[in-house]
Amino acid sequence: MVKVKTPEKLFHISSSVGYRPSRIFCVGANYRKHVEEMGLPGRESPFYFMKPREALIQGDGLSTLAVDYPPQTKELDYEVELVVLIGQAGSTVPEENALDWVGGLGVGIDFTRRDLQRKLREKNQPWELSKAFEQSAPVSSFVDLHNINFEGSSLALDINLSVNGKIKQRANTRDMIFSVSEIIADLSLYFTLLPGDLLFTGTPEGVGPVFPGDILEANIPGLPSLRVSIE
Ligand code: MN
Repeated sequence: MVKVKTPEKLFHISSSVGYRPSRIFCVGANYRKHVEEMGLPGRESPFYFMKPREALIQGDGLSTLAVDYPPQTKELDYEVELVVLIGQAGSTVPEENALDWVGGLGVGIDFTRRDLQRKLREKNQPWELSKAFEQSAPVSSFVDLHNINFEGSSLALDINLSVNGKIKQRANTRDMIFSVSEIIADLSLYFTLLPGDLLFTGTPEGVGPVFPGDILEANIPGLPSLRVSIE
C-alpha cells in the first residue's frame, strides 16, 4: 500500500510563505519534440488533466523523496516539468499580466503509467488511471519570480532530468508551445484560479521508464532541485 503524505503547506522558500495545496492542473503535450516522440497531433489551444492532492509530495532541496513504484503498471515514466504555484485568485486573467498570478516557480515530475495511458488513449477514455495515482506529482520548494531569466514576457529556463546520474531530458522552457502566460490566461477562462493551485506546464522530449532503485534528479538552475528515489 502506498503511504499518502500530502504536504499540509507548499513551502515557498524566498518569502517563507506557505500556501495550502489546492488543485493540480497539468498541461499535456506542450513541447514540440515531445509531441513528435509521442506521435500526437498539434493543437490550437492547451489541453489539461488534473491530479488529486494525494498525488502531491514535496522535497526540501536536501533530502531524497521516496516514491513507491505504483501498482498496475510495467511502464512508469518520468516527465520533468516547470511547476507554477498560483499566488492569487483570478478568473479571465489577461495574458499580458498573467505572470502577476505566479506566486512561485518550482520543478516537478509528472509520473505516468505509460502502458495504461496508451490503452486509455486507444479507447478514448479519461487519463486518471495513468496520471492521478498517489505520489505521482513530486515537486520541489518554490521560489519567487525575481532573479528569474525573462525573455520579453516569457520565461526562458533550462530544465533537465537525470536518472542515476545520466541526463535523460534537457530543454529550455522557451520551447513550450503554450507559454506560462498563455496557459494561465486560458485556464482562467474555465476555472477560478486559487492560491495554492499548481500548474504542471508539460514535459520536453526524452521521457522514459524508471525502475525500483533508480535515483532521479530534476533541475531548473536557480530553483531548488528535486531528488527522488523509486522504491
Ligand atoms: Mn506531463
